[in-house]
Amino acid sequence: MDGAPPAPPSKEDEDSMHVLVVEDDAVLADGLSRVLSGHGMRVDVVGSGSQADLLLQRADAAEVLVLDIGLPGIDGFEVVRRLRARGGLLPVLLLTARDAIEDRVRGLELGADDYLVKPFATAELVARIRALARRNAPKAAVLALGQLTLDSAAKRARIGERVVELSVREWAVLEYLLQHVARVVSKQQIIDAILPWGDDLTLNAVEVYISRLRLKIADAGISIRTIRGFGYMLELAAPAATTTDAAAPHA
Ligand code: CA
Repeated sequence: MDGAPPAPPSKEDEDSMHVLVVEDDAVLADGLSRVLSGHGMRVDVVGSGSQADLLLQRADAAEVLVLDIGLPGIDGFEVVRRLRARGGLLPVLLLTARDAIEDRVRGLELGADDYLVKPFATAELVARIRALARRNAPKAAVLALGQLTLDSAAKRARIGERVVELSVREWAVLEYLLQHVARVVSKQQIIDAILPWGDDLTLNAVEVYISRLRLKIADAGISIRTIRGFGYMLELAAPAATTTDAAAPHA
């Protein structure tokens, strides 16, 4: 414990992150609980590996697990092993002893995400818990370029406010291009990306999807450039040449 007074809960804490602390040292457990609560987190504490294992069988047990290794009942390694064996995905921060490098390695190999060596500064504990929670948060699902936005969660494409209808494969091709803006991608890369199950699709089919997409996104301020003999590159369109002399370079 570094004894610093907890900072007032910041905006980041508004959703009250739920942390499960598994620590059999009652004094340390109590201190951790107070520090994390002071940072606006919702904290549960259990003192044995078996209790933790039982709790973690519930999907909503916690968003982040802070786990001591030396525990009564089953140890921290076994808690992680069982958690991952059940398909549990929540991030795990191990608390390890200073000189136990092999413990850290073993913990990480069993599926822990990070570790802190005792004794640690509480500010570092808080920062690492937040980093783990962020890493685990759903990725921003909206891709955008020019006037085009692709909302992967809602499976909706728009140009400005207007919804654009895309077939499943047109969507997949456009999504791949948007993930590789301003980079040249080959037709084969596109096929591999949209057909991970090994369905077969010809290079010509890719050309067909691309030409349909060009029509559908014609007014989005972006263009799919053909890189001859190789593939394509999605980029912002050159400024429209319709405005008086602004588009006429003096060269
Ligand atoms: Ca312990």
